[in-house]
Amino acid sequence: MSWAPTNHRQKILPDLNASKLGLECLAFSGYEDICDRIHDYVENHNNTGWKQRVKKGLDEFILRGCKPISRYYNSNDPGAFGILMYHRVSPKIAGIEEPTWNVTPDQMEKQLKGLIQLGFTPVPLSEAVQHHQLGLDLPHNAFVVTFDDGYANNFTQAFPVLERLGVPATIFLATAYLGEDVPFPSDDWSQTGKADPDTWRPLTLEEAHQLNSSDLIELGSHTHTHDDFRGRPRELQQDVELSLSFMKREFDILHPTFAFPFGVRRFGFSSDDLIKAVKQTRVRCSLSTESQLAHLHQSPYYWGRFTATQADDAERLAVKLSGWYSRVKNGMRRLARR
Ligand SMILES: [Zn+2]
Repeated sequence: MSWAPTNHRQKILPDLNASKLGLECLAFSGYEDICDRIHDYVENHNNTGWKQRVKKGLDEFILRGCKPISRYYNSNDPGAFGILMYHRVSPKIAGIEEPTWNVTPDQMEKQLKGLIQLGFTPVPLSEAVQHHQLGLDLPHNAFVVTFDDGYANNFTQAFPVLERLGVPATIFLATAYLGEDVPFPSDDWSQTGKADPDTWRPLTLEEAHQLNSSDLIELGSHTHTHDDFRGRPRELQQDVELSLSFMKREFDILHPTFAFPFGVRRFGFSSDDLIKAVKQTRVRCSLSTESQLAHLHQSPYYWGRFTATQADDAERLAVKLSGWYSRVKNGMRRLARR
């Protein structure tokens, strides 16, 4: 295994320890198959991809392990609720590499329909923020649906599903790219710009206006340029201001909700100095991508979100929304750092 330069070691070390601990747990729990596969990757893959694969294996293990617990011990905390994060919503196209950050419209419909059948109640993000401000509770098992970036397929593919199911959602726009027919700079799919534009292009202004006129959809800010603002709070603030001017001018939205680009708190994408910067603007919250339950008694500038993936069925999402997924994951992370 090759080591990163010394200044990166400290970042990597806790993850490595977490991986080791995960392997022990997997072996102990009789998940030998998964354990062997992960061990194989750790031993034989001398590249940056192995960490991703270990993480995926651990996630799978935690989700499976938490399923029975979450079925019988749902969170009784009335202030806790989960926020789901989607990006691209596009059907599979035969013959090309699968899009990254994608959930097919069929799978998204099954996920949301299934969650409602399991007793979860979708609520708009603005309602959650308002209930925080007023000190009110949300319905039992409330959850929020969000989409990042502002893909056109949020209008062409996801919106019809949301309308069919009556599920409210927030779409966070990287406003600089609205109406452009070039891909988002943050889009890491190899076919972006080449495949059917509906799979990668940003929303047109007309589409965004149509979404905004629906009672189900709220438009939020995802900065203007979707840049990497780590260590640059002043630039972030200026960029968010540009985004807010755009949203005021185009949609007459004065106090939108907000989600950080990239968003992982422990990697600095939603650090305290960046939170402090966005608090200086007119946004009503700032969501990260930390896999953890949000809480009405916690500041909405610190709320996390759970990624909804193509591999998730409704039961797996229910595990994430029950709070057990993040409890076990964070517990393992803490243990590994001791
Ligand atoms: Zn984004």
